[in-house]
Amino acid sequence: MGLPCVFIRLSGCNLRCRYCDTAYAWSEGYDMPVSEIVREVLEFRCGLTLITGGEPLIQPNSTHLAQALIDLGLKTLVETNGSIDISNLPEKTIRIIDVKCPGSGEVDQFYWGNLGFLKPSDEVKFVISNRHDYEWTRNFVHQNLAVFSGQILLSAAFGKLDPKELVSWILEDNLNVRFQLQLHKVIWEPTKRKV
Ligand code: SF4
Repeated sequence: MGLPCVFIRLSGCNLRCRYCDTAYAWSEGYDMPVSEIVREVLEFRCGLTLITGGEPLIQPNSTHLAQALIDLGLKTLVETNGSIDISNLPEKTIRIIDVKCPGSGEVDQFYWGNLGFLKPSDEVKFVISNRHDYEWTRNFVHQNLAVFSGQILLSAAFGKLDPKELVSWILEDNLNVRFQLQLHKVIWEPTKRKV
């Protein structure tokens, strides 16, 4: 968090989370060849890029895009909603896998096989809407991520849970996770795009 990064937002999503702040990505967008996307990314002269959505993995070419960026020496992250198999992504991709909590309305969509593909360079992320989500996440972390050595990220659903509350719960439980803020919403207006 805090590093300059070029976001590549792909269109379309197979989920409908209650707190979604990028619903415009469900349908907005236009076709671009991978070569054109890469060319535009390079114009930013930034060594870090994140492929997100929507849900990027519903587009088969997202793996080719990641490979093209990696081949050019860019540190490449892919953020996915956790419902789709991540194993086809190039080895050097850093995967950020959302695990949808009950408050999202999409808790049943998690693809459990993804837990078997996790690498230490990956990150597992939970967006927390309320105390029930927090307790559910705490159990998930204890039961399924006890041996995972990558980052575990917890953030408060914007406008649904006060970040102070989430931080106090994490500290009370001494939970070994990283708290995360949507930094762009703190710096700019929450709905501002292309920042
Ligand atoms: S997975 Fe992401 S883009 Fe899709 S509905 Fe949920 S929050 Fe929105």
